[in-house]
Amino acid sequence: RVVVGTKVDEKHENFVRAYNMLTGIRFCVSRIHAKMDRDLTDADFGQAQKYSFDITGGELTPSAKYDFKFKDYAPWVFRHIRSSFSIDPAEYLVSLTAKYILSELGSPGKSGSFFYFSRDYKYIIKTIHHAEHKFLRKILRDYYDHIRENPDTLLSQFYGLHRVKLPYGKKVHFVVMNNLFPPHRDIHRTFDLKGSTIGRDFREEDLEKNPRATLKDLNWLRRNLHLEFGPTKKEAFVSQMQRDVALLQRLKIMDYSLLVGIHDLERGNEENLRDKTLQVFQPGSAKPNDPQMNQLDRTPSKMESVRRARELRESVKKERPVPMAQTVDKMPGEAHRKGFYFYQDDGGFQATHEDDASGEEIYYLGIIDCLTRYNYVKKAEHFWKGMGGHDSQISPIPPDRYGDRFVRFISGVTMSRERAEKERLSQTLE
Ligand code: ATP
Ligand code: CA
Ligand code: CA
Repeated sequence: RVVVGTKVDEKHENFVRAYNMLTGIRFCVSRIHAKMDRDLTDADFGQAQKYSFDITGGELTPSAKYDFKFKDYAPWVFRHIRSSFSIDPAEYLVSLTAKYILSELGSPGKSGSFFYFSRDYKYIIKTIHHAEHKFLRKILRDYYDHIRENPDTLLSQFYGLHRVKLPYGKKVHFVVMNNLFPPHRDIHRTFDLKGSTIGRDFREEDLEKNPRATLKDLNWLRRNLHLEFGPTKKEAFVSQMQRDVALLQRLKIMDYSLLVGIHDLERGNEENLRDKTLQVFQPGSAKPNDPQMNQLDRTPSKMESVRRARELRESVKKERPVPMAQTVDKMPGEAHRKGFYFYQDDGGFQATHEDDASGEEIYYLGIIDCLTRYNYVKKAEHFWKGMGGHDSQISPIPPDRYGDRFVRFISGVTMSRERAEKERLSQTLE
């Protein structure tokens, strides 16, 4: 399967759906932020609001370019979640405005989900299955409590949960979440690690035609790689991962992975910025000469973002007389991840040596794809694969063991360069 990020313009088959997603988000987010902030109630977690958009406009909704239905889930909860992650509402709206066309990343996984990047690449929209959607609603309270107690969580940051439906079309659920990778730096290698070895190999031969492919556990081991963190960063990283995984285990989640993007500071940025923007975000193949890619405009300048944010703020104010929440006064355009421990080094987490001095790489990492529950399907799969005998190696194992194996693997490969060298030597001597 060839994966190329394509600009979703009028000619794109999913243009209307993507356009409506953004229109719906913009409307719902403006609407919730037009209200005075308040504490959450239990009812907020189960809330869902339906809207009907059409070209004439309705009682609640402004006129839209297309007819479609939109559903917004737990708007108050997600407002609070965004605020916990320091997402500026005006900036969020600027990034996800329908005027900015998205780019679509076919379906990089086996799941059939579609991924869309906001124009500035800060956010990812992922379409999810109905089961994942129901599950997220069910665990929303636990997720919310967890991120409040763990502001530095490595788990995917969910900023919104919505549903869109075109006339005669099927219902499509989607989440908005953080893009772990930065818009301004080349990612030289990407790994998706689960701590399993079976089926966790990207064919090295295919790397030539697809140099930016997402590699897996066996490719990592073959290269003898490490997450090169000295004692201080290692301790912080491993203990946060343990807390996050404990939540996933309690909620019976599995199949998640640690996504690792490596930026090599010595190599720096090789591609020119314009071509780079798409390549960085492609787990799949890069085709810099693809005309569709060259259509991709620059991301808006800081000045422009400031101006647009101001305009939006004004328009939001006009739509509803109630003043907006306090948070909007921060400078738009500033990295929203500032102040988050694992995103402190230019949006990522820089390698350190054994003496904690800075190292040569920046890692962009997080735990992704964490909405798969260990259900009957997985149990059935476990049964069949389990017949093969190497039970602890296969992916669908129960959530407790999945999590333990995940933590063991990741902590096992987390060590400074010096430490790794020492271990290698002592192994040779044995
Ligand atoms: P499957 O269930 O088959 O694994 P999926 O459709 O659920 O696939 P994910 O595992 O969530 O997809 O993601 C697939 C790929 O998309 C990842 O390996 C990564 O390259 C990219 N990706 C996903 N989430 C993010 C994110 N938050 N930031 C950057 N890249 C991401
Ligand atoms: Ca996955
Ligand atoms: Ca998945």
